[in-house]
This record gives sequence, C-alpha cells and structure tokens, in this order.
Amino acid sequence: MRSWVEGANEPDLNHLPYGAFRKEDDVRLCVRIGAWLLDIAACEKDGLLDSLTANVRDACCQPSLNALLSLGPEAWHALRHRLRELLEDTAPGDIQTRVDWFLYPLHEAQLVLPVDAGGYTDFYASLHHARRVGELFRPDNPLLPNYKHVPIAYNGRASSLVAGGTPVRRPRGQRRPVSEGAQPEFAPSYALDYELELAFVIGQGNVLGEPIPIANAREHLFGVMLLNDWSARDVQAWEYQPLGPFLGKSFATSVAPWITPMAALEPFRVAPVAREPGDPQPLPYLVEAADLRNGAFDIEVEVLLSTEASRAAGLEPMLVSHGSTRELYWTASQMVAHHTSNGCNLRPGDLLATGTISGPQRESAGCLLELTRNGVEAITLPNGERRAWLQDGDEVTLRARCEREGLPTVVLGECVARIHPALQTLSPAR
Ligand code: MN
Repeated sequence: MRSWVEGANEPDLNHLPYGAFRKEDDVRLCVRIGAWLLDIAACEKDGLLDSLTANVRDACCQPSLNALLSLGPEAWHALRHRLRELLEDTAPGDIQTRVDWFLYPLHEAQLVLPVDAGGYTDFYASLHHARRVGELFRPDNPLLPNYKHVPIAYNGRASSLVAGGTPVRRPRGQRRPVSEGAQPEFAPSYALDYELELAFVIGQGNVLGEPIPIANAREHLFGVMLLNDWSARDVQAWEYQPLGPFLGKSFATSVAPWITPMAALEPFRVAPVAREPGDPQPLPYLVEAADLRNGAFDIEVEVLLSTEASRAAGLEPMLVSHGSTRELYWTASQMVAHHTSNGCNLRPGDLLATGTISGPQRESAGCLLELTRNGVEAITLPNGERRAWLQDGDEVTLRARCEREGLPTVVLGECVARIHPALQTLSPAR
C-alpha cells in the first residue's frame, strides 16, 4: 500500500492522525499525510466524500472532531477508509488531481486542538509512579491500600487544555510556610514539573446513569494523544490535602495537536503486565477476557528537554527519560468501565489520561518529581546543566512510537511546549 502524495509512505497511510488547523477565519479538520495535511472539509465540499452518509459529511465540516466522535466506530471507519482511498496510489488520476488542491505543507499550518474537551480526567495508572511518589512522602507505606483495587483518578481542568506549541506561563501560587507560625507565601512556583502521559479521546459517550460495561469500553475510544500534565509541586504539596490536586495542575495541560486513531494502534495491543504474586484480583466489573488478552498498548515514550543554553549551542533536545505504556497497571478499558461505573456520563471529546507513565527503572520515570526525588537530587543534562525543576525557557518534548517487526511504525504527534516566565505581579493594584 503506497501513497501518491510526495514523500508520503506506507506508515503515513496507515496512521492518518486527525488534527485541526486555522484557514483564514475558519478552523478546519484535517489528517496528516507525510509532510502535508489534508483539508477534510474541502474534500467534502468538492464531492470527494459523497460515498459517505450525510451525517459523516456534515461532521467533516465542523471546527472540531466532536460531531464525528459522537457518530461512533462505524462512521470513523467509513471516513478513514475513504480518506485512504483518496490517498493511495491506486486512486484514479483525476481524483489525485482534485485531492492535491487540498494538501497544505505542515510547516506552514497553524494547528489548534482538534477536540472540544468538556471533561479531562487524570488517572494514576502507573504502579511504578505511584510507588516511587509514595516512597518520597510515606517511606514506610508507599502504596496506599486502595491502589490495586481502584483505578485512582482526579477530575482535571478542561478549560486550560492547550495544543502543543502554546507557551506555558510559570504559575504563581500559594505554598507552605517556611517555618512554623509563618504565613504561607504567594509567589511564582519554583518547583515546576512535567508529567509524561497518554490521553485517550472518548468517542461516543454514555447516558447518565448507564455505566459502560468493560466489554463495550473499546467502542467508546476514538484515539490517543500525548499529554503533558504540568505540575507546580510546591503549590500541589500545600493544597492537595484533603481533596487532591487543584491550582498546582490547572494552570495548563498541553496535548499534542494530533490524535492517533485507535484503528492505527490496534496492531500494537499487548497483554497487560502480569500482576505481582499476591496482588488482589480486580473486582468483576474491571475484568474481561479481551482486556486480559490485549488491553494494554506497546507504545515507547520519551521525554526530551531543551534549554536556552542548549538551543544557543545548537544542540538537539536532550533525552531525559524513556519508557513504555505497556507497564501501566490499569488499562484504558478499565478506566472507562471504572469512570462510568457509578453512572457518570462520558461525552464525546472527553479526555481520560493515564497519569504519569513510569517504568520500573529510574531512567523510565516520567516526571522530575521522581527523577530528582522531589527536587533533592538534581539531574545532570547531557550538556552539563543541572535541573531539580524546570527553569524559564526550558522546552519539554514528549515523543511516542509503536514499532513491531513486519508492521509500519506509528509515530505519534509530539507534544512540545516551552516555559515562559511568571507574571511579575498577580494583577494590577487597585
Ligand atoms: Mn498527571
């Protein structure tokens, strides 16, 4: 299977991630093919999608994917199939000529978030992350007794989700008093961190009051994107008890501007890692045969960092950690089943993020909190600089790829964002 599009190849045709870009005053949906994006709405207006149903064609002309998501897997497959037909080298010459008008160079495109996420839930699915973080704060009792029974999560803030590329301003916030009896401080966070995560994009939702059984969970997943759950650890440490994270997280969450459809990820499904001997079995609503067989994904993930100094020296972004999503303790289906088990309704475009993806080794820790043991042991970067936490000008890049012998490699859209300095003052004085 080849594409006629210049420079595009089999992996590109096989992947076709969805995005959205600005075109004059409009936002248009698109798919990526090689170094190009294809304007889906323009294809529809030209009649190239006439073989699809009216509701799919209408969804293609919306400024976000939400309408398409709400139509369900049959609609997603029909559109993907048609887009591939248009881009394969078996497409008739006149079709190629028409489609060619609607290809734009990627490097010129201004990408925006392709989904309107009404909800963003952040799980805590990595046992290695939970254990290492637990060790920092409760050395005698790192893993809380609920961890292996309940897929732990908190409700994140959807309004501050931003597409990768958007600068992230260092937040100001309240932190613990430096000594007993002193006032808490309100200042720019000094303990700014990233979290390497994968977000699952919900397709069709469920009716309030009607849980999604784990056996049906896969039908509700549309795709995935990399997500960076920025965290101000000093703010978080002071505010999180007893109700969990709030302003230490909600100032910004960056997501990659490309959604990899589940269809492109299916070949990279693997069995979840075996539970440790003596681990409890999950309750029946979290267990299902297909999920045990291949409910996890083998996606290699990386964190890279560039700094003002490294960029000035012309260095490439420096590798900070690398791991795999196959190490996660809970699967996407378990997250969906658990999230809706009380009747809570998910809606099209909602994001369910994995939580920090960390592996068993130190070098696979997905955030600085773990790598630097809460800022105590600064890491040394390949260019000799040291970091306990992120500094202004630091740029974090999340990368992910799926590789398996005999299969075209899938490279997920990167999530990149740079830290800008905090505002000098909170707000103008009265
Ligand atoms: Mn997180």
